[in-house]
Amino acid sequence: MPRTKFNQYDHVFLGMGLASLSLLMRMLRSGKFSGQRILLIDREPKTKNDRTWCFWEKETGFFEEIVYQRWPHISFLSDEYSAGLAISPYEYKMIRGIDLYNYCYKEIDKHENVELLYTSIDNWSWQANQQLTIRSGNETLELEAAMVFNSIYVPNGAKDPIRLLQHFKGWMIETEEPFFDRNKAIMMDFRVHQDHGTSFAYVLPVNEKQALVEYTLFTKELLAQQTYEEELKDYIGRILKIKQYRVIENEFGIIPMTSEKFRFRDKAYNIGTAGGQTKGSSGYTFQFIQKNADQIVEKLFSGASLDSLKGVPARFRFYDNVLLHILYHETLPGKKIFSTLFKKNAASQVLKFLDNESSLAEELKIISTLPTMPFLKAAIRESLGIRD
Ligand SMILES: Cc1cc2nc3c(=O)[nH]c(=O)nc-3n(C[C@H](O)[C@H](O)[C@H](O)COP(=O)(O)OP(=O)(O)OC[C@H]3O[C@@H](n4cnc5c(N)ncnc54)[C@H](O)[C@@H]3O)c2cc1C
Repeated sequence: MPRTKFNQYDHVFLGMGLASLSLLMRMLRSGKFSGQRILLIDREPKTKNDRTWCFWEKETGFFEEIVYQRWPHISFLSDEYSAGLAISPYEYKMIRGIDLYNYCYKEIDKHENVELLYTSIDNWSWQANQQLTIRSGNETLELEAAMVFNSIYVPNGAKDPIRLLQHFKGWMIETEEPFFDRNKAIMMDFRVHQDHGTSFAYVLPVNEKQALVEYTLFTKELLAQQTYEEELKDYIGRILKIKQYRVIENEFGIIPMTSEKFRFRDKAYNIGTAGGQTKGSSGYTFQFIQKNADQIVEKLFSGASLDSLKGVPARFRFYDNVLLHILYHETLPGKKIFSTLFKKNAASQVLKFLDNESSLAEELKIISTLPTMPFLKAAIRESLGIRD
């Protein structure tokens, strides 16, 4: 295992992905941590465009400079309801993984107090303000660490949580002739068949000839790689009616959708997906990580204990679990749920709700538009802890 420069650090980050970089960048920009030793550990440097983040946002965001594309309108398409939707005051934005990594590395390079170490962590332990022990293969690294943030996600192994997977394969395609309207993104297209379970596609144009086209499922099992590709080809050819194109980039991802209870503080302070920042019912994570990083950094500035940070409000966890319950037991097709949501509610209200930022009155209004019986049954079962 490579060795560290020192054996004592103020902040150690296990994992160097979105959550760690979002928090670290805020710390570095503040100038308040320049006298502190910071160590980040990941199994490998970020040299590839391994993911593309999309999210909606009202204001100028922390990573605004590297927003690759933005859309003021989104479309929702299905055979039950189709519409172009204005989402003001939000914009739908895209950030490419590689742009974010390079942007952060450039900043990190300016700070001599930040050290990066590459090694694969098999397991680790830490007690606040004390010894951090990291094991990798037969080797052990022992450090003193005042604060440890962990973003390496390991499912907690408990039996009761509902676990679905959001899995997707995407191609950045380029057409011969101009085809896309760069101002219009398709956020969900349920015109794909539903034989594999809840499945949809989305189309994110970055210019008139290029778009990221993704085929996504919310199901229990993954598909064979070949099946994602067949479905993508079918969607692009039969539904979008694009005859000539070439694939210029690939993306494959799996995001956990789970009712698992995440603790912000257990072995260390958990951030990102490992800290429960992935919304159980949608898989969206980017904005939750940004909000969480803001809260953490505020506590660090003021010297207050991080233990007082609140997790996801219980009622939003409940809504997520009810929706997961329905998707898991397939008591209502996802296509029906999302079509109803977008048909009967203003898109901006749906986005606010999915952001966990709606008021109770707004939530009740949205919930009242959904088919009563399946949701009521799932809510009762969820309240009683019956998940099978
Ligand atoms: C392909 C893809 C696309 C996504 N798109 C969106 C999107 O559009 N919108 C959205 O809101 N969310 C999206 N997500 C979900 C979420 O935003 C991302 O997963 C995000 O990167 C989560 O940040 P994180 O820091 O928790 O995890 P990561 O960014 O995955 O960081 C974890 C880090 O830990 C490292 N690591 C893991 N195991 C070990 C180990 N044993 N030893 C050492 N290092 C280790 C990894 O190399 C990684 O760098 C997407 C996820 C994927 C996979």
